[in-house]
Amino acid sequence: MTIKVAHRIAELVPYPPGKPIEELERELGISGSIKLASNENALGPSPKAVAAITAGLSRLHRYPDGSCYYLRQALAVRLAVAPECLVFGNGSSEIIGLLVAAFVEPGDEVITSYPTFLVYQNVVRAQGGVNRVVPLTAMHHDLGAILTTINQRTRMIFLDNPNNPTGTVFNAAQFENFLDQVPEQVVVVVDEAYVDFVATDLRLDTRRYLDAPTPVVALRTFSKAYGLAGLRVGYGLMNPELASHLQRVRQPFNVSVPAQMGALAALEDEGHCRLSLAITNQEKTRLTGAMAELGCQTFPSQANFLLIDIGGEGQTLYEHLLRQGVIVRAMNAYGYPGYIRVTPGKPEENDRFLGALTHSLQELGYGC
Ligand SMILES: *Cc1c(COP(=O)(O)O)cnc(C)c1O
Repeated sequence: MTIKVAHRIAELVPYPPGKPIEELERELGISGSIKLASNENALGPSPKAVAAITAGLSRLHRYPDGSCYYLRQALAVRLAVAPECLVFGNGSSEIIGLLVAAFVEPGDEVITSYPTFLVYQNVVRAQGGVNRVVPLTAMHHDLGAILTTINQRTRMIFLDNPNNPTGTVFNAAQFENFLDQVPEQVVVVVDEAYVDFVATDLRLDTRRYLDAPTPVVALRTFSKAYGLAGLRVGYGLMNPELASHLQRVRQPFNVSVPAQMGALAALEDEGHCRLSLAITNQEKTRLTGAMAELGCQTFPSQANFLLIDIGGEGQTLYEHLLRQGVIVRAMNAYGYPGYIRVTPGKPEENDRFLGALTHSLQELGYGC
């Protein structure tokens, strides 16, 4: 085949997702596996969301409401922002693509950290932008080094807060000091996929910056605390002028009928969200203690995952755990070959993980 592929596409490495349970079980001929790899909600979706989706299935012959009217109104009230500040997407990942499409011309520069969420750099590259990558310092975004990387061509900065995969955050004072020094032609994107898990005294209120001279966009998702990763709904929060540009590049029906209904019901099911956070926090603490007993260092995380130094080859341990039906995430692609990332599951799943991990560490002779 002599099809001509754009250079920038040919050199891209596809995003390595967490291994789906079905795939593992198909490959190994096993059943009853558990997945602690993709920062999903251990509790499952809100039963109210499931009921709303089920009730809406008879409307699947209709196109969805392209404006997400009901979800938009409810969320605007919840967040106390104008409805025009919201742009919905097929997951917040879609908003990342819309931002780059709207504001980054070929050859323009976008600053990201490393390691961080791998989607940003691929999207930038695929759309012809140039990545400028700033290493984390002590596992935190190095806001000072990012500032010194800004030049005339810089159009956007992606900061996930908490950062995936380290779970670290910056606070309001650090962010304000940073934002004051970012030129006005740069869009600062704060990806808050894990914001619900952050301790309240450390939480940034990104709404306060939507009208700052330097444009700020916050990204949020229903995939994590709200338990709807499979449904694909997320949104961007920004001033209405920025939002109007994204509306031009957005596909008209990018959020499906079930996604709109499910997200609305999940938003209103505050009990389910609270319970999810409580279980995550409880199990995060328990796993951290258990890791210490096993001689593995766990980094303090403000998100629903733990980065664990396993004192050996993360990829080897990952494969060893897979054979026991336990899916975690190896961190090679993130530049941490000696680590795994684990999303706390239900208590019984975590017991199973700890059993498998103890066995694997012993067999492999790992541990710090
Ligand atoms: C999980 C995650 C998302 C969420 O993506 P969706 O497309 O909304 O599922 C966004 N950003 C980061 C950093 C994440 O880890």
